[in-house]
Amino acid sequence: MSECLFCRIIAKEIPAKIEYEDKELVVIQDINPQAPVHLLVISKKHVAGTQDMDAQDRLLLGEMVFRAKELARQRKLEEGYRLVLNNGAKAGQSVFHIHLHFLAGRKMNWPPG
Ligand code: AMP
Ligand code: ZN
Repeated sequence: MSECLFCRIIAKEIPAKIEYEDKELVVIQDINPQAPVHLLVISKKHVAGTQDMDAQDRLLLGEMVFRAKELARQRKLEEGYRLVLNNGAKAGQSVFHIHLHFLAGRKMNWPPG
């Protein structure tokens, strides 16, 4: 059994609110939402973070961003949404399995905390 939380969610060993799934990605609701809409676009392939990407993973990251665009279109959130990819503990990464935060539904501030 994998030790990785998101690998376990992908394997359906741990429940999550799944919003979308295909061959490469799963989209779930964040358990601790930081905005009215807070989804996580998760690669099914275990890659710990951008530092661990191999050449092929460039395409995977493109899929993740494209999926975010589709989520925004389907939910009529195109007016503004924020995509966040935390890399490394110092940047706020807590789950070391690559994922894109999709945040929307409120005014976002800049600079981020
Ligand atoms: P990060 O800190 O960028 O690694 O993001 C990890 C995210 O995963 C955080 O926003 C957490 O709230 C979220 N999270 C942790 N455990 C779960 C879970 N069991 N189901 C859904 N989201 C989770
Ligand atoms: Zn994993």
